[in-house]
Amino acid sequence: MMTRSKFMKKLDKQRQQHLINEMVRKIEEKFPLDPLVKSALESVDREIFVSDIFKHLAYSLDALPIDSEQWISSPLTVAKMTQYLEPQGCDSVLEIGCGSGYQAAVLSKIFRRVFTIERIDSLLQEARARFRALDITNINSKFDDGTRGWSAFAPFDRILFSAAPTHIPDVLFEQLADGGILVAPVEEYGLQTITRYYKCGNQITSEVIETCHFVPVVEGKEY
Ligand code: SAH
Repeated sequence: MMTRSKFMKKLDKQRQQHLINEMVRKIEEKFPLDPLVKSALESVDREIFVSDIFKHLAYSLDALPIDSEQWISSPLTVAKMTQYLEPQGCDSVLEIGCGSGYQAAVLSKIFRRVFTIERIDSLLQEARARFRALDITNINSKFDDGTRGWSAFAPFDRILFSAAPTHIPDVLFEQLADGGILVAPVEEYGLQTITRYYKCGNQITSEVIETCHFVPVVEGKEY
């Protein structure tokens, strides 16, 4: 026996999980998921990261507007970027462009330590509140221009750009661990491509994966 309000809460949770699983199923129709990435996506409720007026679209595969003219990435994009990082067995990841915090929350289910940087203070405050509400304690976040990286916690096993740079600053390759991988939606001549970089000793090699559409990396901070 349980009280009616407890029962309703349980039902609500089940309904929510069903919607999340449906979203993940739609992602899998387009992009086969590794079990690790799949279970990370299933354990983060995207609704919490979406603005109130778009809650009804929280489990669609669309990118959605958030404050400060920014976007929460499509969950399909988050799934792809996470998987392209080849995250199995990694310890730390640095994200540039925290935004709503959804991508960082997904990474937090796979990596032991997540570092994320956001250049718009108000967005970062909201993302931090969401991490607290979800009891996520392994995300460290910083208000800064992420193109400088985060030297205090370097080297990182993986680095992910969640906004599009025109080039990768050398300092980020310096902060990437030997054998590490950096994934970024690089914009050249108006065309964005998800590009994966491998660091081996002093050598950086790269490969282009697919075209994409991200907001641009912007320099400096915004209060
Ligand atoms: N990962 C986010 C995607 C947000 S969109 C999510 O899951 O919702 C990209 C974000 O990158 C925006 O919030 C934008 O403000 C931020 N950004 C752009 N240039 C940046 C920079 N130089 N340093 C840090 N963040 C940056």
